[in-house]
Amino acid sequence: MQSISVIGSGTMGNGIAHVFAQNGFPVDLVDTNAGQLDKALQTIGRNLDRQIAKGMLTEAEKAATLGRIHRHSDLATGVKRADLVVEAATENIDLKLTIFRQLDETAPAGCILASNTSSISITQIAAVTRRPQQVIGMHFMNPVPVMKLVEVINGYATDEDTTRRVVELAVQLGKTACVVRDYPGFVANRILMPMINEAIYSLFEGVAGVQEIDTVMKLGMAHPMGPLQLADFIGLDVCYAILHVLHDGFGNPKYAPCPLLTNMVRAGHLGVKSGEGFYTYAQGSKDPSVSRRFL
Ligand code: NAD
Repeated sequence: MQSISVIGSGTMGNGIAHVFAQNGFPVDLVDTNAGQLDKALQTIGRNLDRQIAKGMLTEAEKAATLGRIHRHSDLATGVKRADLVVEAATENIDLKLTIFRQLDETAPAGCILASNTSSISITQIAAVTRRPQQVIGMHFMNPVPVMKLVEVINGYATDEDTTRRVVELAVQLGKTACVVRDYPGFVANRILMPMINEAIYSLFEGVAGVQEIDTVMKLGMAHPMGPLQLADFIGLDVCYAILHVLHDGFGNPKYAPCPLLTNMVRAGHLGVKSGEGFYTYAQGSKDPSVSRRFL
């Protein structure tokens, strides 16, 4: 693989562009929002500075990494030389289907089309293209430069060569790839989201408070972050949407979102991004301060 295009330059897109560019790949970064593209480059610059401060990178490597990232607001221009496209646009099924139709029209014939979706069916996305065998899930974890896992999702029609090439690429980025099948939530969110939902139920039913639930899971299970803090970090709207995907996909009531989660999402309390969830957050900070009283 020579050249990578990343569609969407938000939280995930800028992290994905960062790791590919740092590993020597030219990256075309595409976003319909030009302001977001500028912000993404600033974020990548700050994250590279953090690596320099830790002695993991030199100033020259930072400059070379940034020099490999080219910004585009037009999708067709941004994918015209791509060997692999990683789509990391907003998690919305209609938007993703539209983007994949456009990618199929404009990306070179041999180009692999991957999606970073957390929960949308790869098989459904692949079906709107004329190359479903070359469509695959490449699910990076947040924050991308730090997290080692790439969950590789084979759609119903994905061929072995596509899977092999994507796994090899993940390894080249210093990541560990796990290949899974395309069923609701894949593996990561199928296991994570019911745990988060159960933590919210424990709060909702008055079993324990926010701090107690998170402390039990941190100290008792050696999780680096408690499930309620993690839910705030992911975004409560995102957790809610993924639980719906599991609930609809399996038709099993055990995946229904806890009514407290539903209420918080309706109230606009979405976690870190809105400044309040299970904890409160100062403007621009990811550090939780006192949780509100839920009991
Ligand atoms: P985000 O909202 O931070 O960024 C999405 C970006 O897509 C925005 O910059 C937006 O302008 C851009 N966009 C929208 N329509 C576009 C289009 N037609 N063409 C190009 N760009 C377009 O979202 P995010 O958190 O980075 O999530 C992106 C994807 O990654 C989603 O599918 C999400 O499920 C998945 N994901 C997110 C996380 C996470 O923790 N945030 C983790 C794993 C996977």
